[in-house]
Amino acid sequence: MTLAGSGPGPRARDEARCALYVHVPFCAVSCPYCHFSKTGLSRVAVERYLGALEREIALRAPLASGQAFSSVFFGGGTPSALGSWAFDRMWGALKGAFTIAPGAEITLEVNPESMGPRLLDTWAKAGVNRLSFGVQSFVPSELATLGRMHDEHRAAEAFALARAHGFRRLSLDLMFGYPGHTAVHWTRTLDAALALAPEHISAYGFIPETGTPTGDAIERGEAHMVPPEVEASFHAEADARFTAAGLALYETSNWSLPDAESRHNLTYWLRRDHLALGPSAHGLWKGVRRANAYALGEWAGSLERGEDPATLERDTPASRADETVMLALRLGSGLVLADLPQAHRNELLVRYGAAFEAAEAQGRLVRTSGGWCIPREHCFVADDTLAWLAIRARPIDPQECAA
Ligand code: SF4
Repeated sequence: MTLAGSGPGPRARDEARCALYVHVPFCAVSCPYCHFSKTGLSRVAVERYLGALEREIALRAPLASGQAFSSVFFGGGTPSALGSWAFDRMWGALKGAFTIAPGAEITLEVNPESMGPRLLDTWAKAGVNRLSFGVQSFVPSELATLGRMHDEHRAAEAFALARAHGFRRLSLDLMFGYPGHTAVHWTRTLDAALALAPEHISAYGFIPETGTPTGDAIERGEAHMVPPEVEASFHAEADARFTAAGLALYETSNWSLPDAESRHNLTYWLRRDHLALGPSAHGLWKGVRRANAYALGEWAGSLERGEDPATLERDTPASRADETVMLALRLGSGLVLADLPQAHRNELLVRYGAAFEAAEAQGRLVRTSGGWCIPREHCFVADDTLAWLAIRARPIDPQECAA
């Protein structure tokens, strides 16, 4: 039995301290499988978004007083759909209210068709130092089915242009296992992705979402998921190809060159503090989860009325332990007890200690020097192990945690 992997590395762990996420909810088209919060792009909508974002920044800034963010992530939607003027206004508001640590990782999600030299200059000048490209596939017929606007050449051109503008930390997002996806096409996509020599690749298994055209077609029986064993073989092929190219698996769906792990996402997976702004954004800050209103109009309307657009939920010993297990066991290095404060470690062992022992006995978990991890051959079906553990979790008696 092999361990899932050794990553993330110690430097990435140290640098993933506290994160700031900004959701940019604009897309030129709506991809038929996508359930993210997004709307069409217009000057009026962007102006309303920026005004509301400035209000939310003012509302949240006191929470982060005295704290320096080790990463900022502009996600979407399509952050690269914003013009330079809009990006500069948004970045100015963030920098004026929050402290960004020197050397912070600043990532922006890019759709290949919406990126050009002017935007690259704007981002580089602002300090953006990592770009994450939403590519999904390099096969023309699949890109058409997925509703993507770029063709297979545009993704490579955008990548080369970013390199020419000095960007050194580039990531590709790929997707596999959607209706009609074939092994031949997946191999072709992997070949093309690796030819670009990215520092980081995310490859996600397709998840049908109710309320999207693709998800609804699957529910009606008009489109069909690929069989689970085929989807697992896609993940295995990606893992073998990426590993051979020096990209190590450090989370179930993420591979990187040494030291190129996403600090921002690592902050989530290590369950460290993250503040989230924009419609649908979810954050965890000092033990409080905030979930923003989903749609732009609802989120902006609350802020325009002087109301908080978020619902709040304070964590509990049980929810802390559950989230820690769910997130950390997806990492290559697994759950490392030393990552947790002593009190949280105690809670986790009270709730999951017996379940971990039983999982070890069944080969579902492997004991590591610092905790537990899911064996590599089960990595793609990590969710099965997590569900197996969840039904064996024990209630937490505060007396036991204090012991
Ligand atoms: S570009 Fe991205 S966020 Fe926008 S609709 Fe497509 S998948 Fe969703």
